[in-house]
Amino acid sequence: MSDTRRIVVVGAGTLGLATALSLAERGVAVTVIEADHAASGSSGRSIGVVGTQHVDRFEIQMRALSVRRMLGWKQHGLDFRHIGYMRLGRTAGDLDLFEKSVAMQAEFGLRHARVLTPQEIRKLVPHISTDGIAGALFGPNDGYLDPHLYCGLLVEMIRARGGIVKQRCRLVAAGRTKTGYRLRSTAGDIDADGVVLAPGAWASQVAKLFGHELPVIAERHEAVTIKLPAPLPYVMPMVMDYVPGSGGTGLNFRHERADELIAETHRSYDTEGSDPDDYDQQLADKTKEELAELLLERLPGLPGAGFGRGWAGLYPKSPDGRPLVGPLSADEPMLVAAAGAGGYGIQLSPIIGTLAADWITAGEPVSLPEAVRLKPSRERAATSA
Ligand SMILES: Cc1cc2nc3c(=O)[nH]c(=O)nc-3n(C[C@H](O)[C@H](O)[C@H](O)COP(=O)(O)OP(=O)(O)OC[C@H]3O[C@@H](n4cnc5c(N)ncnc54)[C@H](O)[C@@H]3O)c2cc1C
Repeated sequence: MSDTRRIVVVGAGTLGLATALSLAERGVAVTVIEADHAASGSSGRSIGVVGTQHVDRFEIQMRALSVRRMLGWKQHGLDFRHIGYMRLGRTAGDLDLFEKSVAMQAEFGLRHARVLTPQEIRKLVPHISTDGIAGALFGPNDGYLDPHLYCGLLVEMIRARGGIVKQRCRLVAAGRTKTGYRLRSTAGDIDADGVVLAPGAWASQVAKLFGHELPVIAERHEAVTIKLPAPLPYVMPMVMDYVPGSGGTGLNFRHERADELIAETHRSYDTEGSDPDDYDQQLADKTKEELAELLLERLPGLPGAGFGRGWAGLYPKSPDGRPLVGPLSADEPMLVAAAGAGGYGIQLSPIIGTLAADWITAGEPVSLPEAVRLKPSRERAATSA
């Protein structure tokens, strides 16, 4: 199948690249323009976790479709490390949500998830304290990938299908032509029949170049490696000490190397949002103190562990926490957003890319019709209500 329309995707993070790959696979002539280099934004600063242990049906369905696509990319070299994902729960209500999640995951073809007792948790993670923990939702096939390698692989796959990825090419202005758009970039003008905006934390300012609002804030989050005095005799799965919707501070950590973990707090102090061109990229002392306290409580059996490299990056977040995927306005069906993935833009990138490509090629999210609820216009409706 070939499509003669020329589509430009703005941004070479996971969302832009996954969209471009979906378009290239459909025979669309696609060009990605990237201000810096692939993975230079949030994607390269993430910790790469991919999992389906959510408690919301639609979120599980999106993840199930994403994981299926990622498993297919393993034959092209995707290094998806299946270390498992364990979501800790504290109350009987959490365990009830976990049982429901297991059933919903099975409905979407994911049959390995199960609910663990505290004893089973300790068997898998001998160093963990299960004080205050009622059980866990565990997916042994979940895991993580290196986001730089993932983006690099997407670039290769796009190019192998005839797509173009232009780096150091920033969109600076946009105008309309009779048939589409004229994009002014730092590397010259480009005409396009359609445009997908996937500029991550810059979404709001890039949408303004087209005269639209895209309500994405750049929320600063931090991660840090933990050096262990000796290699662990087991692989630490991703342990998430937080249940979606439960509020409060959370902690997560996972294996990185035999003698190294990566940890992150769920909390961000950045309620106002940051300037993506000027924010503090270092780990703050305050976060270190909070993490040390939380880790000591949850992993008291790891004496001698110390912090290694720490960094900060941005969650491109929408007001309701769901991605923004679809046309920016009903009058412009060929100007589509793939944005606002918050803390989940690695794991959701395959499905977001598929859906953004659906909007361009079919005018609706045919791969997952329920995803019509991700249209950016829902946010305007919510604000005006
Ligand atoms: C510390 C941390 C840990 C995380 N951990 C995880 C995790 O474990 N799992 C997970 O799923 N998610 C995680 N995330 C979230 C994930 O990183 C993001 O949701 C995802 O990277 C967003 O991808 P994106 O393509 O929308 O944005 P980006 O990766 O930021 O890509 C947008 C690109 O657009 C480019 N751009 C901007 N403006 C222009 C312009 N005018 N012209 C051309 N190009 C432009 C930028 O240079 C950038 O490269 C984490 C994030 C952080 C900060």
